[in-house]
Amino acid sequence: MPELPDVEIYKRYMDSKSLKHKIKSTEIKETKVLEGVSKKKLQDLIKDKSFQKTKRIGKNLLAMLDNNLWLRLHFGMTGYLEYYKETNEENSHRRIIFNFENGYHLAYVNTRLLGKVSIVKNPDDFAKNNDLGIDAMDIKFEEFKKRIQERKGAIKSTLMNQEVIAGIGNIYADEILYQSNIHPKTTANKINEDKLKTMFNKMKDVINTAIEKEADPNKMPRSYLLTHRKENEKCPKCKGNVKKIKVSGRNGYYCPSCQKG
Ligand SMILES: [Zn+2]
Repeated sequence: MPELPDVEIYKRYMDSKSLKHKIKSTEIKETKVLEGVSKKKLQDLIKDKSFQKTKRIGKNLLAMLDNNLWLRLHFGMTGYLEYYKETNEENSHRRIIFNFENGYHLAYVNTRLLGKVSIVKNPDDFAKNNDLGIDAMDIKFEEFKKRIQERKGAIKSTLMNQEVIAGIGNIYADEILYQSNIHPKTTANKINEDKLKTMFNKMKDVINTAIEKEADPNKMPRSYLLTHRKENEKCPKCKGNVKKIKVSGRNGYYCPSCQKG
């Protein structure tokens, strides 16, 4: 599932390929991904405009058009962007295709149709209206501490709660807790300041490393839990067995020997 690092990679990809090119037309092949905007309205708003700049808030990518409206892309469980000139390869999961005047196309690819595409007037209101917390890349320690200490749920669910911190999902929450030696079910407000500091630093490290490795699991360090997400795989730190654990209905992984507290 695309989390902060993946969406940050999509942002950089979009910035490097598709800014400032005039959009001739927009093909909307599946309206299920549209939220609060009709097919015709979206096509009319985008026609003859171009993407001027982008902004990422948590797992959302927003692209500003030259009419000052923002196109918001959320990728759901499976989604990415594809910029191409021509291809023989048909991809039936291209749900929306922006056709540029220069002959190139930008496709919003979404396999399981759990993504959302909408039009947003401004990013700050969008974050407020959707109860999005501070982005995990931007949050400072004092704010992080305050937000975690207000919560009585399991720390893993707290990290994944987009109202608390925006951008972290199942896989990176597991990774941050693994590297901080914290059990996923630990009550959030029971974690002491030292451990919070460790967790904060690990969160930043993990995000930066993931972005550097283009959010590609095959390029991630072997010392990461991320490369050992399987029941009874060997823990890279203690060589004990990695176990599956369900927290708030989501399956994840942890090492029972390393993550006791
Ligand atoms: Zn271990």
